[in-house]
Amino acid sequence: MISCCDSRVHVTSIFGADQGEFFIHRNIANLVPPYTPDGQNHGTSAAVEYAVNTLKIAHLIVVGHSSCGGVQGCHAMCSGHAPELEQKSSFVGRWMDILRPGYDRIKDLPEDDQLAALEKEAVLVSLENLMTFPFVKARVEADELTVHGLWNDIGQGGLEQYDPAQRRFVSI
Ligand SMILES: [Zn+2]
Repeated sequence: MISCCDSRVHVTSIFGADQGEFFIHRNIANLVPPYTPDGQNHGTSAAVEYAVNTLKIAHLIVVGHSSCGGVQGCHAMCSGHAPELEQKSSFVGRWMDILRPGYDRIKDLPEDDQLAALEKEAVLVSLENLMTFPFVKARVEADELTVHGLWNDIGQGGLEQYDPAQRRFVSI
């Protein structure tokens, strides 16, 4: 399970699960970066590698959520309202660069719809990037691993799942 750091996302209670049932990695805006084997420190990629290659998980779930501060920061940065996040020294800004391709896909929507759409893009970009990891792609293609995208409405408590066939999120 990959979810946001936000304390309002109750990862296990969404599923009625107990402690110890999920291998959970949390980061700002539940993002998975593209596969980049450059010898540097990659916490999220390490968690994915361990879960897939060592734990041999059958399901990998990316959970996005409403009112995500990381996504709001990305939106502000990409729309030119957060110059501090453009600094090379901003770890948050450089992390949110992962979501720039998602911003490009939602930037022409009505303004009121953009943040929720970008929260869902944070899930979709992560699912796309997961498939750039050769060991993820191989296990998915061998039917040994399924990846899922969810979006949690933390205000209303609703849950939506991405349906690849319909290319949209549907309530579950
Ligand atoms: Zn968040």
